[in-house]
Parts: sequence; structure tokens; C-alpha cells
Amino acid sequence: MSKIVFFCIPAHGHTNPTLGVVRELVGRGHEVWYYSYEAFREKIEAAGAKFIACDTYDVEQNLKPEDAARVGKDLAFSTRILVDTTLALDDMVCKAMEELQPDCIVADSMAVWGKAIAKKLGIPFVSSTTTFAFNKHSAQIMKQSIGELFRMIFSMPSINKDIRRLQDKGYPINSILDIIQNDEFTDTVVYTSPEFQPCADTFSDKYAFVGPSIREPESTFVKEREKLIYISMGTVNNNLMKLYRNCIQAFKDTDYQVLMSVGNLADVEALGELPSNISVQRHVDQIAVLEKADVFLTHCGMNSVTESLYHKVPVLMYPQTGEQGGVANRVEQLNAGVRLKKNTADMIRSGVEELLTNENYAENAAQISEGFKRCAGAKAAADKILSMC
Ligand code: UDP
Repeated sequence: MSKIVFFCIPAHGHTNPTLGVVRELVGRGHEVWYYSYEAFREKIEAAGAKFIACDTYDVEQNLKPEDAARVGKDLAFSTRILVDTTLALDDMVCKAMEELQPDCIVADSMAVWGKAIAKKLGIPFVSSTTTFAFNKHSAQIMKQSIGELFRMIFSMPSINKDIRRLQDKGYPINSILDIIQNDEFTDTVVYTSPEFQPCADTFSDKYAFVGPSIREPESTFVKEREKLIYISMGTVNNNLMKLYRNCIQAFKDTDYQVLMSVGNLADVEALGELPSNISVQRHVDQIAVLEKADVFLTHCGMNSVTESLYHKVPVLMYPQTGEQGGVANRVEQLNAGVRLKKNTADMIRSGVEELLTNENYAENAAQISEGFKRCAGAKAAADKILSMC
């Protein structure tokens, strides 16, 4: 029996794909400890892991709003947050690991403290990647801008100072790339299929493209009209009132059934009285909805796009971050969706109609779905992790 420790960032999109793997490992008789955040306790414990809360060590959640907006955009600032988080967790986690003597640490590619701690203590390590795997070939699809590269070069002196803070605490880390980059020698589980991953054949055999583990629906969604349009901007940056208003404008006089999941921040009252064919909810059972949907207007979170294509539903894409833009680029390459060119009612309606009338999009989505279904999912991920123990 092996002892396996997971680390993740506080995000549903990064946590959900790992839960099936936890279930699989526990089902095979192994023990799993999962370092995460209170908001995720229930689902992690339900999967069978022992939950350890990191909330009090979370540097990002205690930032001022103007600083929080810099995370992910400003590399030097982001590195400081990662280093601060690693050092805040250092004492507690290192003590716990020395007591537990785990056989393997599995960390989300963005929970870099997991990798740093594994390196420091010499524990076998597996990276868990819930978006596309990254190397110089697949990076081209993410299209990192010249501006970003310049910012990175100019912020190097300050990053190096932060790296020295890690070295002083015994971390064998020479550069920022040691922790943020997944090189070809790092054992890595990627939750997508080799067909959907850009340039899958350029990755070493350390990479296991295990495919998505799509959960079962928790309810039955009732489709009331011939065509169902589903709209969601995910669970993080979803306060997009202008988009929601434009969607209502676009579909108010149509025969389509429209369901919008708007999250906790949107001012639902301000959307006014809704036409009878449109409903707005804060959260839906997305899998149950996608089983019936004909088109999904999405922000291109990796999970949302994967769940949609798995159900053969083509996507109208409105990415909000670089990472989501990368997912949108890949879907465009495979012709299973189109980008929303502009956030206007006319463009939203014509985008949806393009996807409904041109059958190629749904056919290509179905082909990607077959690739997902060929993958062994959580079983293959568990095999990969256990091979390290
Ligand atoms: N989700 C859901 N109901 C909703 C909205 C989202 O169940 O009303 C789930 C969705 O199925 C997906 C996750 O939340 O698994 C969103 O992850 P994604 O990577 O798409 O985007 P993020 O929220 O991380 O931006």
C-alpha cells in the first residue's frame, strides 16, 4: 500500500480532474492526503482523501484587490506570491512529510510549492496538468506575446532575489524555470487526449495523456425546445454583465431555449424580467445540461471545453485569459467551434447560428469526443502515479 500526497491551487477547474484519480487510488487500497482549501474540503473528502487545509498559508487570498489583479500577469510579482506561499507552507508541510514519508507527491502544475517541497525532500514527484502540456512546440499555440517576454526579462533581477530566498531554506532550485516549467524529465499526467493536446508527439514518454475523467450527471435536465443554447463563463472571472445582457438581447425573440449559468457575483436582478425562453441560474449541473445542449457559449476554461466536446457539443468561444485563448486556438485548429468576434447581440446570434447550420463543427466535436473516450482516464493516471511509488 502506498502513501500519496496531492497539492492543488484553490480552483475547481484544477481540482475536479484529480478527484477521479483520488477515488481510483483509494479504491485500490492506497492512502491519499490532499493539501487544498476549505471550499474544496467536501468534494475532496467525498473522493476518499484525507483533507489538509492550506487557507491560513494562502498569500494570494489576503492580497489587496489591485495586487490580486497582478497575479498571472506580472511575472516578478507572481513569482513573489509563489515563493511567499512555498515559504509560508514550508515548516508545516516539511514536518508533516518527514513524519508521513510519502511514496509520491502529486502537484498541480500551478501549485509549484508541491514540486519545490518534493525536490527539497527528495520525494518522487508527478506533475498534474489540467490544461495543455507546455513545451516550445505547444507554446506556439499559446502565442506568448513579445510584450510578455520583455516584461519577463526586465523582471529577472527581482525574481532571482526571490529564488535565493528559497535556496536559503534548503530548496535545490536554480532558476524560476525549475519550478514553473515542466521539462521533458518530469513525470507528468495530462488530463487530455493525445489528439486534443497540441503537438503531443513532441513530448517525452514521461508524459501520460490520460484523457479527461468526466463525472456522471447529478440530475436530469429537461429540454423544452428543439435547440438548447447553454452559456457559462466558468466559476472564476464570470461577472460579465455586458455579455449576459447581449445574450438576452440576441435570443429574446427566438425559438431557442437558452440557459445561462452566471456564477455568484453577477447582479441577476439587474438583468430585468427574462423572456420565457431564457433562464438564468447561478450554478447548474453542467454535465446534465451538456447532455442536451446544441451549442455552448463558453469562456474556454479547459474543463468546460472538454466537457462540451466530450458531449459532441460545438463551442462559441469567448476566452478571457491567455490560457483560455490557447484552448480556443486549439479548438479553432480542429474546427470544432468558432470565436465570438465581438461582444454584441448580433455577433452572438450569428456565431450560434453558424454552429447550428454548419454540421462540420458538430462532426469534428464528435471526433474529438471519440479520442477522449479511447483514453483510460483516472485508471491510467493512477497507474502512472503508482509506477513512481
Ligand atoms: N461548472 C458547473 N456548473 C456551472 C458552471 C461551471 O458545474 O454552472 C463546472 C464545469 O462543469 C467545469 C468547472 O465548473 O467542470 C469550470 O471549470 P473551467 O476549467 O471550465 O473554468 P474555470 O471555472 O476554472 O474558469
